[in-house]
Amino acid sequence: MSESVSPPLRLREARRIRLVPRLKDQGYAPEDVDKRRRWVEEQTDCRLDQVGAYSISSEAMRGNIENPIGAVQMPLAVAGPLLLAGEHAEGTFYVPLATTEGALVRSYERGMVAITRAGGASVRVWVDENRVSPVFFLDDVAAAHAFAQRVTDHLEDIRQVAESTTSHGRLLGIECLPVGREVILNFSYFTGDAQGMNMIVKASEKACRWIQQHLDGPRYYVFSGYNSEKRASGSLLRGGKGKKVTAGVRLPKALVKSVLHISAERLVEVWHHTVLGHLQTGALGYNGHYANGLTALFIACGQDVANVANAAVGITNFELLEDGDLYASVTLPSLTVATVGGGTSLGTSRECLEMLGCTGNGSALKFAEIAAATVLAGELSMGGAIGSGEFVEAHELYGRNRPEASS
Ligand code: NAP
Repeated sequence: MSESVSPPLRLREARRIRLVPRLKDQGYAPEDVDKRRRWVEEQTDCRLDQVGAYSISSEAMRGNIENPIGAVQMPLAVAGPLLLAGEHAEGTFYVPLATTEGALVRSYERGMVAITRAGGASVRVWVDENRVSPVFFLDDVAAAHAFAQRVTDHLEDIRQVAESTTSHGRLLGIECLPVGREVILNFSYFTGDAQGMNMIVKASEKACRWIQQHLDGPRYYVFSGYNSEKRASGSLLRGGKGKKVTAGVRLPKALVKSVLHISAERLVEVWHHTVLGHLQTGALGYNGHYANGLTALFIACGQDVANVANAAVGITNFELLEDGDLYASVTLPSLTVATVGGGTSLGTSRECLEMLGCTGNGSALKFAEIAAATVLAGELSMGGAIGSGEFVEAHELYGRNRPEASS
């Protein structure tokens, strides 16, 4: 039985489908964007005046989006001060957050004030790489094993081929992962200040073709699903997909009470019981709401927002110290962030990165440290709100937008 809404169209009927107009040179000129938007207005009988009012250059959208008709606008706020003692991010930061969730910025701000008043958070990047994991199909298990051996023996040749496609990417290694008679080749790369997926998929594709031609390689697909790009998976906890970053702070018990409105003991109790809740759902890792801060920061700073799916996997830990103080930490094993490439040079994104001093060589590491500490602030404030019973009150105060009742 067919599941189609209607039978397939005949050729003449199909020609009448109203495709979005294809314009000269892909249509990024301002007048082409206007023309396309007016076409949509006609087709859908609506006005898109707000969509058409934007300040970023339409030509600069090339490489970021197709068929542009304007831009959406998100409210942008600032949270801070956030005092950090990182290897790359040192000093006080004011963090741009774009969101429509009321109470979110106030909550992150509270956590940041707690961290700053405690003397700052320490932050470190442990792993800095990104991966692509093609899969090759062999005849049998023995052939798969022999193939993996050939790849390992020719790592230097493969490295030369892969790196010939990029002046910034570096192939760090290839891990051979067998599944029956298939072999996944997990290519790990250093990607500089770029998130790197375009860069390293291109490099890996060229390397795979070389493997096919020179190492008697069989058929392959460049994606196996192992790399966990834009997906949560258990393998992310180990690291290897993006930057693995930890941030931690020691909060004196009096400060916990005065800023987070809860005792350190109660905060650890909240952590304990919500860990049990996470265990019951089979969650990957444990965190209160990494996705909130990361999404708001990613939108503000031109990151690929879909990467929140992998970046928001991690582990939050709250510990009660012998003297009654609190030690709070976050571990983000898969922070795929960039200060070059993707949407990072679009007007507003660039300004937000400049606000953080995250432009220029090596700035992706600094940005990663700021992102991790931002997440730490959010975990502290969320724990405090749940434990003190202020969670609903805060949202009632800052986060409601009920439509007016119609009479
Ligand atoms: P990109 O915008 O495609 O390329 C950025 C390029 O900037 C790098 O390849 C590099 O060129 C150059 N560059 C200049 N200065 C650099 C520096 N200091 N550090 C690193 N690179 C520098 O961005 P990308 O990071 O490769 O890819 C990210 C984009 O890929 C995102 O927009 C994302 O949406 C998209 N994406 C692609 C895939 C895919 O499978 N292709 C999957 C998911 C997402 P050289 O390489 O020539 O040195």
